[in-house]
Amino acid sequence: PYDVLVVGGGPAGAAAAIYAARKGIRTGLLAERFGGQVMDTLGIENFISVPYTEGPKLAASLEQHIKEYDVDIISAQRATGIQSASADTNGLVNIPLASGATLKSRSVILATGARWRELNVPGEVEYRNKGVAYCPHCDGPLFKGKRVAVVGGGNSGIEAAIDLAGLVEHVTVLEFADTLRADEVLQRKAESLPNVEIIRSAQTTEVVGDGQKVSGMNYIDRVSGEPKHLAVAGIFVQIGLVPNTEFLQGSNIELSRFGEVIIDAKGATSQPGVFAAGDATTVPHKQIIIAMGAGATAALSAFDHLIRS
Ligand code: FAD
Repeated sequence: PYDVLVVGGGPAGAAAAIYAARKGIRTGLLAERFGGQVMDTLGIENFISVPYTEGPKLAASLEQHIKEYDVDIISAQRATGIQSASADTNGLVNIPLASGATLKSRSVILATGARWRELNVPGEVEYRNKGVAYCPHCDGPLFKGKRVAVVGGGNSGIEAAIDLAGLVEHVTVLEFADTLRADEVLQRKAESLPNVEIIRSAQTTEVVGDGQKVSGMNYIDRVSGEPKHLAVAGIFVQIGLVPNTEFLQGSNIELSRFGEVIIDAKGATSQPGVFAAGDATTVPHKQIIIAMGAGATAALSAFDHLIRS
């Protein structure tokens, strides 16, 4: 068995594996796709101390750094569940894989990340990273002085609109429902900004562009049924982040109502010996540097658990 088995090969998992291996304990890292969301990212400008890098380059550096240590990398394999440590499992946590095999470890760090909920309209995939964006903290500055749209009137959408309003020329928020779901205080703030417009009952139907980049979007006014066009250079999709925790459903790992693994300040979950880090958890902000710090925290906590048990 492993001493620490990390499930996930994104920034959180990579940091956890390096911190664990540096303690000289038997460390495994299981990843369906090494690099995680970073592999889908073009420019990264907020990874502190690196003014600019690109996703695949950062993912390659993560792998290279892990390979400096004795970490058993099990890639292209998917965890399908978790069985907590008990007398039945000889005190080990079991991780069954889609292949039918089972990995066993004295402690586990869950770092399976998340994925953005997509609009699923024509043009979205074609113009991803060419105007269609999901992360205002990451890509907001690319649209400085331009007109953008934010799709989604929940907390993340309205926060994005307020954030972007300070950078871009104009923000139009499009909400599908006839009311916004965001907190009152955020709605009031957004409505007070002169360069933010909020359109309710708007169903996004298409992302349009010139073949190179986004030039606008089409939507239907759900009250009148009229088709409308909005000329924008950027479209921020803010309709939710879905944690990759489906495989934990039905286990005794406690999840939030959004499906995030509930962790404490040490990265501990509801089960002894099981820790978690990164976008799959209740951590309030989902960013590379934050996921890495959380991975380090979880690994140090797992080590602490091992020396006490
Ligand atoms: P992920 O990166 O999601 O990694 C999860 C890992 O778990 C992957 O290896 C995956 O294959 C694996 N996995 C999932 N389920 C299973 C399973 N059942 N079994 C085995 N393995 C599994 N952040 C920034 O700080 N700056 C940016 O500029 C930036 N730009 C972004 C642009 C885009 C398009 C996207 C999508 C995100 C961006 N982010 C950015 C956010 C950042 O990528 C995430 O916060 C970060 O990758 C989270 O790291 P993580 O390790 O928690 O999860």
